[in-house]
Amino acid sequence: MPELPEVETVARGLDKHVAGDTIESVWLGSKPEPLRSPASEIARVLEHSRIVHVRRVGKHIVFDLESDGRHAKTGSPDRAQWVVHLGMTGQLLIASPEMETAKHTHAVLKLASGRELRFIDPRRFGRLAVVRIASDGGSGFAAPGDEPLEAEIDQFIGLFRHRKTPIKSALLNQKLLSGVGNIYADEALFRAKVRPRRRASSLTHAELQKLHAGLLAVLRQAIKAGGSSINDYVDAEGRAGFFQLKHKVYGREGKPCFICKTPIQRVIIAGRSSHYCPHCQK
Ligand SMILES: [Zn+2]
Repeated sequence: MPELPEVETVARGLDKHVAGDTIESVWLGSKPEPLRSPASEIARVLEHSRIVHVRRVGKHIVFDLESDGRHAKTGSPDRAQWVVHLGMTGQLLIASPEMETAKHTHAVLKLASGRELRFIDPRRFGRLAVVRIASDGGSGFAAPGDEPLEAEIDQFIGLFRHRKTPIKSALLNQKLLSGVGNIYADEALFRAKVRPRRRASSLTHAELQKLHAGLLAVLRQAIKAGGSSINDYVDAEGRAGFFQLKHKVYGREGKPCFICKTPIQRVIIAGRSSHYCPHCQK
């Protein structure tokens, strides 16, 4: 499943290439699962809207939109958002119209520049929705938890200090931090030298500081590498990421720890695989 660095990579790529473009028309497939808003509402909001900006909010990709149906009182353009969650296998790709439409394409947006924006998702856990923003302001879509790249150390420690759950589960809890998933939770815990099953409340102040630093480091490195390409993940231009080559524990069960050579272990915590070094992590 794409996590924060992959979603950030896709959002940055889209922002670079489609910000300023206008959506001329929208085609939506017949499968109901990807549509979180009614198809007619999605089409109505998207068609003739200008893409102002594309950014990541938690694990969602948010397109900030403007259209010329100016509000009578304020004279400002109508504002709305297109909110995309990639789910397990979702892809948002910039394509030229002559490119063959891939199987499992659920949405095609024709852009004024002549290009298309396509949403492809074989497993259909991805979601598309639109949010209208009231003319009197309103910030639109918000993620449930704190943004990991912006959380200050005190804020970070406050999220976990009193949690009775394993620290791994707490890191995955999207109501605490938005966007951290299995890969980067395991990698951050390795850097902090903390075992995933430890109760969050048992971590010392120093361990939580190391975890905060480790999480920031791993997320930033992964964004730089274009994310981790696992399960078909590609960016908006169809390119794979390379951070999976730098994973220290995730997906390395039985392989020697890069620091101490002890075989990496895999355990199941709250239904998810967790990878750790039994020697380096306490
Ligand atoms: Zn080790």
